[in-house]
Amino acid sequence: MNATAFLKQHVIDPEICIRCNTCEETCPVDAITHDANNYVVDATKCNFCMDCVPPCPTGSIDNWRIVPTASPYSLDDQFSWQELPVQQEVATDATIALEALDEDVDALIAQAHIGAGGKSVAPASASKPSVNLFNRLKPAIATITGSYRLTDAATDNDVRHIILDFGEAHFPVLEGQSIGIVPPGVDAKGEPHRVRLYSISSPRHGERPNTNNLALTVKREPNGIASNFLCDLKKGDRVEVTGPFGATFLMPNDPAANIIMICTGTGSAPFRGFTEWRRRTMANASGKMALFFGARRPEELPYFGPLQKVPAELLSKFFAYSRVPGEPKTYVQDMMRREADLVAGLLPSDHTHIYVCGLRGMEQGVDAALDDICRGAGLRWADLRQAMRAEGRYHVETY
Ligand code: NAP
Repeated sequence: MNATAFLKQHVIDPEICIRCNTCEETCPVDAITHDANNYVVDATKCNFCMDCVPPCPTGSIDNWRIVPTASPYSLDDQFSWQELPVQQEVATDATIALEALDEDVDALIAQAHIGAGGKSVAPASASKPSVNLFNRLKPAIATITGSYRLTDAATDNDVRHIILDFGEAHFPVLEGQSIGIVPPGVDAKGEPHRVRLYSISSPRHGERPNTNNLALTVKREPNGIASNFLCDLKKGDRVEVTGPFGATFLMPNDPAANIIMICTGTGSAPFRGFTEWRRRTMANASGKMALFFGARRPEELPYFGPLQKVPAELLSKFFAYSRVPGEPKTYVQDMMRREADLVAGLLPSDHTHIYVCGLRGMEQGVDAALDDICRGAGLRWADLRQAMRAEGRYHVETY
């Protein structure tokens, strides 16, 4: 009989984590913390409540290692990781001690996934991303080469397209990845401001082919530290950048892939990158691209003008407006139901990928719309969603 007790330790995958801080904000027992490098879980505090698992936009939170109860990975171990350690072999007769709980952790993990973005994997055909090349202690320095307002100047919704040039620095990105922005200065407690995550809205080779830059889509938030800092930057200003982050919300590198993109507001950022990459490199792709995009009004829809010029053969566009005077409130999920034939026509194909990005609140509505559309087409969304997730064809990034 093996006398050593083992524990199922909760750990975070540093390669996938996009450092959005959601887990740390969610954890009710302050077991999650971070340094300039990684987000980590304190094994002495984690009580397996699973509160942090559903909100994680990438699934990086959903990792576990069976370790000797007496010597779990310490915080310092986890801060130093560039990738997760491999699972060490555990004798088959060892006791897996669940000291914090009587319940089975596997059952809790399974429950945590119900209705959540779930553990995602990258599309099989996606290019290999680079992650974590720069951090707070060693940031990349980018220079602002453009900042343009994307929404009507008459509205108080200031959303900007901001271009960051990396000069001679190598900062390789893929469509769908994010970067961190380090706002200068300190907060009220004298601590350096937290790094903020922004999705990249340009394709991998820059705003124009072979430029060493990338674009962000930034909404100025009232009292937003990073958003006001970014939106106030002028041409020639410099900014500290971390990342790139994200290894799953990536574009299939396959001209036959059908890509259904569903977003609200600035959640449109990655889909500008997807559309541009396909337009530039796979103009005659056989796969279809469809965009469901929600905003309050046309005047507040980022990229409204440029989107009108994207040819319908490349991209089918469906806009949902929630605050047009005299018109009923319409959300993306309503528009998807209206276009049920198109969606249902694509869903059975193994080449179809779905991406959801934007407000957290939309997640449930979009899921319900897909459930309805499937029911009407004789498909079972719960089964399809599970299969699509496992095959890297269903991605939700909402926060
Ligand atoms: P917004 O202007 O506040 O809202 C955009 C539209 O979404 C509005 O028409 C709004 O309608 C509608 N909406 C509100 N609740 C909804 C729901 N439950 N279902 C469907 N639609 C709903 O959007 P925003 O300020 O640009 O916010 C974008 C969000 O995306 C932010 O939370 C940001 O953090 C997130 N984001 C995420 C990523 C990412 O995950 N990579 C990237 C960029 C942005 P109402 O008229 O009812 O308000």
